[in-house]
Amino acid sequence: MSDLPDDFKCTITNWEYIYDLCRTVSTQVKRDDFEPDVVVALARGGWFAGRCICDFLGLNDLTSLKMEHYVGTAQKTGEPQVRYPMPEGSVEGKDVLIIDDIADTGGSIKRADEYVRERNAGEVRTATLQLLGTSDFDPDFVGERLDEWAWIVYPWNFIEDMIDLIAGVMERADQEAFSRAEIRRCLSEYHSVERIEMEIAQPNRLGEVLAEMERRDVIESEGGKWRLV
Ligand code: ADP
Repeated sequence: MSDLPDDFKCTITNWEYIYDLCRTVSTQVKRDDFEPDVVVALARGGWFAGRCICDFLGLNDLTSLKMEHYVGTAQKTGEPQVRYPMPEGSVEGKDVLIIDDIADTGGSIKRADEYVRERNAGEVRTATLQLLGTSDFDPDFVGERLDEWAWIVYPWNFIEDMIDLIAGVMERADQEAFSRAEIRRCLSEYHSVERIEMEIAQPNRLGEVLAEMERRDVIESEGGKWRLV
């Protein structure tokens, strides 16, 4: 998220919505008569989907692959790299379904697909819960296609993303201390996150996020308002 411009649209999701996308992907896999032996879930965004899809498909072989842009010295390289290789025997000779949460550039899932194929897997297919129009890579199975680019706040990432978003708007907005209402107004202004939308997706969580920001020394409270530390 750190590479993004100041203003960008965010969509907050919840578990039910994402679970439904997992079901949609699984239904497509079944309809295609593809019967993978193993699911490779890309860390960390693909983990929830990988586990749920194993349940929907009746599989118990689930493994992980971590892709990263940053290698060693925090220098951004163009292509995503495999950070932690898969253990020997994870995919060799097996039919594989690779799953991730979303393809944005599509770089991660594309590289994962190549990596698995290089390891002499059987049939290899790819899936993402969501696909943005910006992706150069077209997965075989897609839960939903998003016409408009947005940063998707996933439920497993809710606190982390909200901390980044709130700290970001506090840095940018032209004031020192913020009430809850002012934080909400900034989230709406910079990221089109409306209070009602957020409360429907993730009810009563703003207080929890603010408390966590205080615990992590990102903000401090003062007279009912918060300021960046
Ligand atoms: P790249 O690998 O080139 O950074 P990807 O499109 O492969 O780009 O995305 C890598 C990961 O970054 C995704 O699996 C997802 O976890 C996260 N991500 C990228 N774009 C978004 C987005 N618009 N909303 C939420 N998460 C995103």
